[in-house]
Amino acid sequence: MQLVNKADLFRKLPSVDEFLRTSEMMALVSTEGATAVTEACRVVLARLREEIAAGRLDSAGIDLALSGMAEAVGRELRRALSYSLRPVINATGVVLHTNLGRAPLAVSALEHARDVAAGYSNLEYDLETGERGKRDVHADRLFRKFLSIQGGSVAEISTVVVNNNAAAVLLALNTLAEGGEVIVSRGELVEIGGSFRIPEVMSKSGAKLCEVGTTNRTRITDYERAINERTRLLLRVHRSNFQITGFTEQPRLDELVILARKKNLPLMEDLGSGALFDLSSVGVNQEPGVLDSLRTGVHVVTYSGDKLLGGPQAGILSGRSDLISRMRTNSLFRALRVDKLTYAALEATLLAYVKRDFDALPILRMMRLSKEEIARRAQAVAGSLSPRVDIQLLDGESILGGGAAPSAILPTSLLAISCPGLSADELASRLRYFDPPVVARVEEDRVLLDLRTVFPEQDQLIAAALNKAVKNS
Ligand SMILES: *Cc1c(COP(=O)(O)O)cnc(C)c1O
Repeated sequence: MQLVNKADLFRKLPSVDEFLRTSEMMALVSTEGATAVTEACRVVLARLREEIAAGRLDSAGIDLALSGMAEAVGRELRRALSYSLRPVINATGVVLHTNLGRAPLAVSALEHARDVAAGYSNLEYDLETGERGKRDVHADRLFRKFLSIQGGSVAEISTVVVNNNAAAVLLALNTLAEGGEVIVSRGELVEIGGSFRIPEVMSKSGAKLCEVGTTNRTRITDYERAINERTRLLLRVHRSNFQITGFTEQPRLDELVILARKKNLPLMEDLGSGALFDLSSVGVNQEPGVLDSLRTGVHVVTYSGDKLLGGPQAGILSGRSDLISRMRTNSLFRALRVDKLTYAALEATLLAYVKRDFDALPILRMMRLSKEEIARRAQAVAGSLSPRVDIQLLDGESILGGGAAPSAILPTSLLAISCPGLSADELASRLRYFDPPVVARVEEDRVLLDLRTVFPEQDQLIAAALNKAVKNS
């Protein structure tokens, strides 16, 4: 590029005020407001100044940029005023994808949340007495109902709800064991995604971790020997995102229940995923359910609202009423509590369980899809794809994910896509640029799409996204 005098180029740029007086900007101001348009002009002009300073624009370049400036401001405005959090299509086959927001909510949960939150509600107001009420009664009522439908022995179970399961574990440890010791097996000192680590939550709760056994083997006698006058709690943590296989041993839950009773200590179980339905009905075994644990005699269980329960993000503590009321009166509860949106969505999710309307819950619908059904839909998508695309239908596996049942896989049928002249990574990236973005797996230089986690009404959007992605390959 020939040497140009940058000062001359800078002089060509209008001031923000000048530019705002152009007819195009005045039209934009009348629809989008002066503040947003002014800000967008500033951003666009600053970008041009940077380009000039870096020597990337000559005189002709500047003229071109100036002629496109109104358009650039319009683009900047749309970008600035658009949402950052957007819906995407999950074609990964990971049912509870933590990065993609875990469980999609039931329609009834959304409707109830909208009805409750669009106006005022009886969140903390007792409509019978006209006096102040408690927010946690809302979830407790349906949990009681559901748990007692399932078996009389758990009628005395209460439930409180906090922000997420990490908060539930923190609240429980602080309430039951602050200043004392908690016994945990070395094989259960888990880390769940990023920063939730049992030893760290333990130290934040003010309780002291007392590790027993070894990584692969822990016996009931290890727990028994470790109990002393400072022991406040026995803790079992579900290995929800890994497995230990080979030479292993772990006491059965009922052995821990018996020991806890004998020593007059509470027993708590961090279940993580906390299924409220029988997972073996979808071919997933060995994932403990909330009811199994409570029936076996665990005093307090903690679990997430947005894992296998299929509801909003929440941490749920269910257990013996006297222990749960201590959680409620802990001052930490105030800091960890949830808002009306969560109560509404959770209540509607639970109502689906009480009514045994399992198909109302998207993750249960997805988990129950057969491989044949998924293959039929995949074939229909394949039928609408451009001839540029190489398509294969493969047998594969969907994953539950989200720290639920690490070994659990569901047989599925995958659309394996490649396109000559386009790498799989490039194709996947173009799919993410679609509106709505489509998120897929890439394996062995093919894009793999699993329709298990795609809502049927999105199938044709997947075809449209693929056709658009390969159009100019
Ligand atoms: C997922 C999980 C957690 C954390 O739950 P969040 O709801 O994500 O806070 C804690 N413990 C176990 C065992 C888990 O699986």
